[in-house]
Amino acid sequence: MHNLIEWCGKEIAGLKERSLFHMPKVHSSAVGARVTIDGKRVIQLSNNSYLGLSTHPKVVEAAKRAIDKYGVGSGAVRPISGTMDIHVECEEKIARFKKVESALLFQSGFTANVGVVSTLTVEGDHIVSDELNHASIIDGARLSKATRAVYKHKDYGHLEELLKEARGPKGIKGKILVVTDGVFSMDGDVADLKACADACDKYDAITMVDDAHATGVLGEKGRGTVDDQHMHERWALTVGTLSKAIPVVGGYFAGPKIVKEYLIAKARPFLFSASAPPAVVAAVSACIDVLETEPQHHKKLWENTKFFKAGLKALGFNTGNSVSPVTPVIIGSGAKAAKFSENLLKAGVYAQGIYFPMVPEALSRVRTICSASHGREDLQEALDTFKKCGKELGLL
Ligand code: PMP
Repeated sequence: MHNLIEWCGKEIAGLKERSLFHMPKVHSSAVGARVTIDGKRVIQLSNNSYLGLSTHPKVVEAAKRAIDKYGVGSGAVRPISGTMDIHVECEEKIARFKKVESALLFQSGFTANVGVVSTLTVEGDHIVSDELNHASIIDGARLSKATRAVYKHKDYGHLEELLKEARGPKGIKGKILVVTDGVFSMDGDVADLKACADACDKYDAITMVDDAHATGVLGEKGRGTVDDQHMHERWALTVGTLSKAIPVVGGYFAGPKIVKEYLIAKARPFLFSASAPPAVVAAVSACIDVLETEPQHHKKLWENTKFFKAGLKALGFNTGNSVSPVTPVIIGSGAKAAKFSENLLKAGVYAQGIYFPMVPEALSRVRTICSASHGREDLQEALDTFKKCGKELGLL
């Protein structure tokens, strides 16, 4: 034990020296345009609740009703006695929303990716992944017995080269799974699913997208990347989270029914970890109803995104290649990005700094995220604060 304490202490001191140790900010209010951090009201620009649904009356009411009827937890894993009618109804709703045959709930987007990637590939298979994919895809691939390769970010020529090599004479005879994020979480840029599918079709590879930041954001009514790029006929598998535009908690697989059945039989997070609590499942279902019936949230999200992105660019910040509500402000050094984020917070705006290992040191940034809950006055005040703090630090 003594060794462990010493080791942790040394490691943390090293991280602190490199500005890589950051304790989470503690919030004491509901998610919204303004939140309370350390007793102070600040503008929130670091939350993934893109549509502002976490306090939507229909969603809150659905969660309360589910608690009244079913209590607070299922008390079991899905295959034993943790499957309630509301889990099944929620899966049917997700499948209809995503326009696919079936869906399967997981406890989080993280376990959905880990479960799907590691279960659908076996020894003799191969996984090919975009270099900026989420950590949960990387961990899923690490858990799999398949071999792995990584293609340069959104470089589908490179993907094709890797697939060609993999299918060479002495190459992979089994399945090849190609995985990409839909919207990339640190940069806000979007995968080109058509280019990806073109390469995959040539070499008989299976397509999978992680739609964590695209569900509720891209496509008709927020159906996601596949819908946005009209790829329903050509795309195989989608995984997503229920903790962002659908701001509850959980994850899902969406795709063919037979694949869902295989996951029910084999995916370890599904088999060995308890099912989502009733309030969570009911709130998720209510969010999907809101997405289907209240387009105003989606519309406002995009109006806000365009206004804020244009404002940051006009100030002269480097906002990278973002085409989504995730807009990075790239600073170029971890220490400077940390200082900028800290100064913004002191001035009333919470925009989290993002540092190595989440991004390369030279691309350290503060990441901003617009939502439908922001009003124009919130966003204008945020832009004014970015200008003031940016000038003070010599960034503008
Ligand atoms: N994929 C991506 C691209 C994400 O950004 C996240 C959340 N950070 C996840 C998966 C994991 O989702 P969850 O928070 O539901 O575990």
